Amino acid sequence: MKKQSKDVKNRPTSSGRDSKEYFRPKSKKELKEILKNNDILTIIAGGTDLLVSNYQKLYKIDKWLDLDLIDEFKEVKIFDDKIEIGSMVTHDRLVRLEKIKELFPILHSAALDLGSPQIRSRGTIGGNIVTSSPAGDLLPPLLVYDAEVVIISDQEERKVDLNTFFTGPKKNVLKEGEILEKIVIPLKKDKSRGVWKKVGKRKALVISSISLALNIVFDKDNIIKKAKMAIGSAAPVPLRIKSAEEILIGQSLDSIDYIKVAKAAAKQISPIDDIRGTAEYRISVAKNITKSALKEVTK
Ligand SMILES: Cc1cc2nc3c(=O)[nH]c(=O)nc-3n(C[C@H](O)[C@H](O)[C@H](O)COP(=O)(O)OP(=O)(O)OC[C@H]3O[C@@H](n4cnc5c(N)ncnc54)[C@H](O)[C@@H]3O)c2cc1C
Repeated sequence: MKKQSKDVKNRPTSSGRDSKEYFRPKSKKELKEILKNNDILTIIAGGTDLLVSNYQKLYKIDKWLDLDLIDEFKEVKIFDDKIEIGSMVTHDRLVRLEKIKELFPILHSAALDLGSPQIRSRGTIGGNIVTSSPAGDLLPPLLVYDAEVVIISDQEERKVDLNTFFTGPKKNVLKEGEILEKIVIPLKKDKSRGVWKKVGKRKALVISSISLALNIVFDKDNIIKKAKMAIGSAAPVPLRIKSAEEILIGQSLDSIDYIKVAKAAAKQISPIDDIRGTAEYRISVAKNITKSALKEVTK
């Protein structure tokens, strides 16, 4: 018979009897009260990252803060100039919301590509951002849409541009006692065309080896007026590829030098070797997906 791991006896029970305190606020107000009176809380949203990464040491967590009952964090609000997406909105909801599909098609496609139906129904946009994996699928689309995040604590509220939120692999600017409340994306008047590309070892349920979001605004003469490109899994953080964007601006459909843009993209990234691919493989794929994304968006 297979020997049981010595950790088995320490595993938490499904009733959560092993955790000392479990907070489940029902509103932002209650949440702030809990943050005021407690330090070192482990925040749980859908749990799809947290429970996996902490599986062997769940019993060591003293204080849980579960955001699941805060309805304000599940709201999606549309204004004239922006959309606000609560941090507890699941990937599944992003996929189902017609307005997301219409206004932010790249975000919609990335949410649809993320994990499996089970993961999409539990995992949240806030969890994807705070995990801050360079491979987080929603991150390149949010970067090209100029998203900002609203961060709250018991004392204050601050807004951070997502471009400055990530500080390293699985690292970000959130401080102890801070919660990601919502994501704010500006609604632009210009009509844009976007593409999402995700390359992985399989077709489904796969963490990307490399991903790319591209959003382009053409003027009435089909000249590129604005270009935003971001790549995931190719640097310590998901990255806007500004050198490629600069080359694209001012180009017409038939004057785009695909190879030049692809080379610029490959030059700006700094991929590593890991189980999902070597650095060399990633550079070559970055060039290819840049070319194919450009061809798709301009056809
Ligand atoms: C089988 C499987 C497949 C997966 N496939 C993919 C994939 O294809 N693409 C991909 O990008 N990801 C994938 N993931 C990772 C994961 O599902 C996503 O990153 C998901 O969005 C995490 O959200 P969550 O709500 O489950 O976060 P949780 O696990 O609850 O939390 C993640 C982290 O964020 C913190 N946190 C969560 N919400 C907040 C908040 N509002 N404020 C402050 N801190 C917060 C938590 O403390 C924790 O550190 C996969 C995971 C699994 C298990």
